[in-house]
This record gives sequence, C-alpha cells and structure tokens, in this order.
Amino acid sequence: MSISKNSIIPLTIESLSSDGSGVGHYEGKAIFVPATAPGDVLQARIVKDMGRYAFAIVEELQQAASHIEPDCNVYKPCGGCCFRHLTYEQEAQSKQGFVADAFARIGGLQIPVLPILPSSLENRYRNKVQFPVGLDADGHVIAGFYAGRSHRIVPCDDCKLQPTELNQIAAFVCRFMEEHQIPPYQEQTHKGLVRHIFLRKGWHSQEILVCLVINGTSLPHSEQFCEELRQTFPNVTTIVLNVNQQKTNVITGKKNICLFGPGFIRDTLCDVPVQLGPLSFYQVNTPGAEQLYAVAKEFAELEPNDTLLDLYCGMGTIGLSMVKDCKELIGVEIIDEAVNSAKKNAKEMGVHNARFFCADAGKAATQLAEEGLQPDVICLDPPRKGCDQATLDAVIAMAPRRIVMVSCNPATAARDCRYLADHGYVPLKVQPVDLFPRTKHIEAVIALVKQDR
Ligand code: SAH
Repeated sequence: MSISKNSIIPLTIESLSSDGSGVGHYEGKAIFVPATAPGDVLQARIVKDMGRYAFAIVEELQQAASHIEPDCNVYKPCGGCCFRHLTYEQEAQSKQGFVADAFARIGGLQIPVLPILPSSLENRYRNKVQFPVGLDADGHVIAGFYAGRSHRIVPCDDCKLQPTELNQIAAFVCRFMEEHQIPPYQEQTHKGLVRHIFLRKGWHSQEILVCLVINGTSLPHSEQFCEELRQTFPNVTTIVLNVNQQKTNVITGKKNICLFGPGFIRDTLCDVPVQLGPLSFYQVNTPGAEQLYAVAKEFAELEPNDTLLDLYCGMGTIGLSMVKDCKELIGVEIIDEAVNSAKKNAKEMGVHNARFFCADAGKAATQLAEEGLQPDVICLDPPRKGCDQATLDAVIAMAPRRIVMVSCNPATAARDCRYLADHGYVPLKVQPVDLFPRTKHIEAVIALVKQDR
C-alpha cells in the first residue's frame, strides 16, 4: 500500500541503515529517517514512498535514544554528514556492523571482520573540497553543498569536514565575485560563469590549490583575483581555471588554464611524493589513507622477488608505498593525468622498477594475462561499483599468491570477494578503516590467499 506524501505516521527506530539513516517499519514497509537513532520513538512525515520502502523526516521526536546535539547548523539540510547526532564511537560501531553485514549477507562469507580502525581526526580531515556556487534569495553569491538528493545549494560557511582555511577561501571567492559582479553559473539556464570552487590542501606540505570551475574560458579581473587571494592566503601556491562548458553534473572539465604557479600542489602520502592538480583521484583524508595503505601493505605480505600488480592505481600511491618490498611494480589506471602523475612520482622517488599504463583495468589485465604475466600479488582498489567481470577473470587467470582488495563500498567488495572465493581464493580477513568520519562512507581492506590444491 502506498503512503501519500506528507502523511504523519508513528514510528520506532529499530536500526541504522548503511547510509546512516534510522530505520523503522510501518505496515510492513521500511521507513528511512535521517538523523535518528535506534530506540527513538517519533511521529514521522513521509517525504517519498518508493514502493517497498519510504523516506521520511522527523515531525516530532517523542522519545529520544542517545542523541547528541549536532555541532553543525546545516546538518539536516546538507547532504554531506549523516552521523553528527551520534557520538563518533557509536558511528564507528555502526560502520563496523555495515561492513560485517555486507560480507555475511551479500557475500555469504564467514570471515573475521577486524575491529574498525577509527580516524585520528573526527573533523577537518579532508584535503579537498568542491563547493557549488549560486545565489541566495537576496541575490548574494553563496557557496555550500547540495541538499540530499537535490541540486539546491545549502550555504555553509564553516564545513567541519574541511580545514578552516578552505572555508575562508570559499567566502573570499564569493565576496570577490559579488564585488566584481561575476555571475555564478545557473544550471537551469546554462548561463553565468563560476560553477564550483575546487580547493586542495596538502596535508603535510600545507600548499593550497585554488581552482574555479567556469562555464567560459576566462575570469574577469583575474590578475587582481590572484593578487588579493595570495596576499590574504599565503599558503595558496597555485591558481587554476578549469573549463567546463557542458550541460552536465560532472564537476570538472578536461581543460585547465593556469593563472598562477605550477598548476599543482605537492604533498606526500606514506612518503610517496605526489603532485596534485584538479583532475586526478586522490584519497581525501591523508592520515586516514596512510593508515589504509599500511594495512594494505601488511596484507600483501610481499617478498623481495615478487611482482606486484596494482589495478585501479590512481596516481600510483598504493603500489609505490610498497615498491621497496618487491622486485617489480606494474600499475594500471584509466585517467591519463593520474598515470602521468604516477610516473612522475616514481621518478621523483628514484624508483626504476615500476611501470604504469593508462588503460581499462579489465582490458589491461586480460592482455597481461594473455602475455603470460604472473604477478605474485595483485592489489585491487576499484571505484564504488567494484571490479568488472573481465578484471576478476583476468586476476584469477594470472593466479597470484595473494590478492589485496581495497574498497570504498563494502557491498561491491563483498560481491567481488564472493566471486574470487568461488574461483580458488580464500578471503582471510576484512579490516574496516574509517577515512570519512561523520559521513556514511567507509573503506575496507580484504586479504585473499590462493587455495592450496
Ligand atoms: N588506488 C588509488 C585510486 C583508487 S580510486 C588510490 O588509492 O589513490 C579508484 C581508481 O580507479 C580511480 O583512480 C579511477 O580513475 C580508476 N578507475 C575507474 N575505472 C577504472 C577502470 N575501468 N580501469 C582502470 N581504472 C579505473
């Protein structure tokens, strides 16, 4: 039976879903309510009925379980965080449960899930932010985040996930745009100039990249912009325009125009030197990623004569963080800019036993398998959708001794581990690592070993 929008229903929250919402049942239907916790008794207002389940918001909280006061004034409208009404301990415990649940239910695998490694920082851990830019009802330029499941901008002047300096730079850009009547981009009309403010800050180096994603090829008053920005924020070492004139939800375009500095910042990750421009994938929580890579390295159990194949290698950081422990490293990645960075990073490290290819992981792995490559260890770090069949089949064909899977999506990781388990690989253990406190995201590392026949 469908429940009409805006109906008010009584609900008791029973558990947390993997997107951080509380879940209760009404007439057999699962109802998802953000910012609630197991034990809450409430009146809920239905926002959208999806058939077997529905989304709702809190109309009246009648009995609250253990909540804390969220430390952000746009917590509810902003779509970024979902755990700020719980303590970090409760959040970490829930995430542990999501990972265990994925492997047991989706993967059908009985493997030990080690206690989650929490992030050393609950807040201000991100090294990258992308603020959409728009106008508020009074015509002021605002930067913020999209409200959940929408493209409405919720202005946010102090996002707790970002370093304070990056929030201040966004405010500076909005002020500059207003003073010089530089219009923000409007999705509906495809008019206006500035679409996003894209910022990166090197965790160790403190260097800052400021990039404006624009629906055009130049920025009015750009010299003054660079001068004032650098004066106010001395850590800004490069300023870039990224051209995106497409009608698209994809944030960045392919072309960068450098206004100041080298077009990238420098930093290190597990002592691997990296150059970060606006386009490459890079882990957003540097200390968290260092923790994640340390686990991957431990699970790889490399020996000095080993060949390591790093599939979905991004700018090569996982493989390069272990390259001293093996004989040879081969990395495969689909984004050209990332592959070039991987090569540069290797060169800067003085590493001569590493090769990187720009290719689809499945195609490259199939070809390498056909050429008779027999890596001893394969590292897989796919995007959220997981590995495709071609990649998994080629990995199995190459018959490595060990496979280390690093994943940002426990559901697809569990599915892919099941496939590997059905084809001769025993999943030994799962280590959840929290790189994204206060949000629904979680990483996991899985060790798999070739079954003795
Ligand atoms: N291992 C890296 C990157 C992991 S994110 C790190 O830790 O930083 C996943 C990476 O997979 C991204 O760099 C993305 O560009 C890449 N990717 C996505 N689809 C791919 C495909 N079909 N083939 C190869 N790489 C792909």
